[in-house]
Amino acid sequence: MVRELTHFIGGKRTPGTSGLFADVYDPNTGTVQAQVPLAGRAETEAAIADAEEAQRGWADWNPQRRARVLLKFLQLVESERDSLARLLSAEHGKTVADAHGDLQRGLDVVEFAAGIPHLLKGEFTDSAGTGIDVHSLRAPLGVVAGITPFNFPAMIPLWKAAPAIACGNSFVLKPSERDPSVPLRLAELFVEAGLPPGVLNVVNGGKEAVDTLLDDPRVQALGFVGSTPIAAHVYATAAARGKRAQCFGGAKNHMIVMPDADLDQAVDALIGAGYGSAGERCMAISVAVPVGEETADALVARLKERIAELRIGRSDDPDADFGPLVSRDALDRVRRYVDIGVTEGAELVVDGRDFTLPGHEGGFFAGASLFDRVSPRMRIYREEIFGPVLCVVRAADYEEALRLPSEHPYGNGVALFTRDGDTARDFTRRVNTGMVGINVPIPVPVAYHTFGGWKRSGFGDLNQHGPDSVRFYTRTKTVTSRWPSGVKEGASFTIPTMG
Ligand code: NAD
Repeated sequence: MVRELTHFIGGKRTPGTSGLFADVYDPNTGTVQAQVPLAGRAETEAAIADAEEAQRGWADWNPQRRARVLLKFLQLVESERDSLARLLSAEHGKTVADAHGDLQRGLDVVEFAAGIPHLLKGEFTDSAGTGIDVHSLRAPLGVVAGITPFNFPAMIPLWKAAPAIACGNSFVLKPSERDPSVPLRLAELFVEAGLPPGVLNVVNGGKEAVDTLLDDPRVQALGFVGSTPIAAHVYATAAARGKRAQCFGGAKNHMIVMPDADLDQAVDALIGAGYGSAGERCMAISVAVPVGEETADALVARLKERIAELRIGRSDDPDADFGPLVSRDALDRVRRYVDIGVTEGAELVVDGRDFTLPGHEGGFFAGASLFDRVSPRMRIYREEIFGPVLCVVRAADYEEALRLPSEHPYGNGVALFTRDGDTARDFTRRVNTGMVGINVPIPVPVAYHTFGGWKRSGFGDLNQHGPDSVRFYTRTKTVTSRWPSGVKEGASFTIPTMG
């Protein structure tokens, strides 16, 4: 039976009224399991109006009282962690174990956000001039919005919404139309935890909903995560309309393997970070850069062996290493890129194009592919594939390996595998990329640090979660005050100075 999903506005599930719907698939079978409404302008504006009204009262709650809602939310999620992970896995196609990780990484940021009162304290200078004190405070922005991708349907909505509401804003979330059920349930749990209706609204939809959020003057700031062309468009449009924006885009994350690296560790890392979640992670490793021919030959031989042992299965199969891709389009795109790589002259060591899971011929499964001798001029190197395809680019020496991620248009994450501290230190200082891992393949920073890529992977000055999220979701007001008992100087016609 095909379920009909809703929006979540004013604290309750609200049916769509535009008459437009998108199909939500079961990626294991390729069949439609639900339909999600696509909000038009009127529905999106209704959600914004509701959020605007709720924000005034919410901002008057003291910060610790707001934080208590987040703590209660964490308790409520605990009691249905497994069903949330299963729901997420069933729409996205990642394994249930991986879906647990998606949820946990989001909850980490909710825990961080419950401590945000500490970061809202502002600054104070006693006696900045005679009888004059100065303080700055952090005020919420008002209504803010988040537009999120399909590949982390729990983590990224929580990364955006939790710090925003902890700072006293109301939030309109526009999640991916491909796996909207978990964001809807999370919003419901926030209200069950005591969040006043309207502080967190979920509007399902596509371009029209996003255009409305961009156009509406009541929306003060937008956080976007998704592909680079749309991230760049949202950033430019938001900026042109005077809105604050942070927009994160695609990636091509490299992993450099030095000759002195622990090869077992490097191979494990590449198999997990290259093929986990079928490569549908913005921090997936999609390029391996072995340094020297000997390292490269050994690495490619070991990868080939390990790929043969990979278990691809249904997303709810506990023995599967990874499941299907999210959609038919994603599967077609991955196969097309493997074709392109062959045409460009890269050496296809493992071909995953024809993989099918018996009994699931309609599912969106792609096998793992491995290319060797990829050159930086090739499209399979320059463009994001977002699937289980790993490219090996052989580098002659460390300097050439360092140049590759540094000169690549994307700059999300990068990893270096080595036993040498000097090389590691030099690399972390010189590489032109936002997040760096040393012997860590997916260097997603912990919740109290910040997450963000450079170059075509991130537009805007401030990163997600950590202290930057408080800076993004508040603005500073600075107050200079003098009381009547202060020195009376008479009228002054010059710019005030402090002494
Ligand atoms: P996407 O760009 O297709 O969609 C992202 C969001 O934008 C969705 O909510 C979608 O509905 C909306 N959207 C789609 N078309 C639009 C349009 N024309 N105008 C306005 N909004 C539109 O991305 P996706 O396929 O859902 O996610 C995968 C991409 O996200 C990959 O490129 C991946 O690297 C990237 N990603 C980046 C990060 C990061 O932190 N840098 C994290 C996760 C995913």
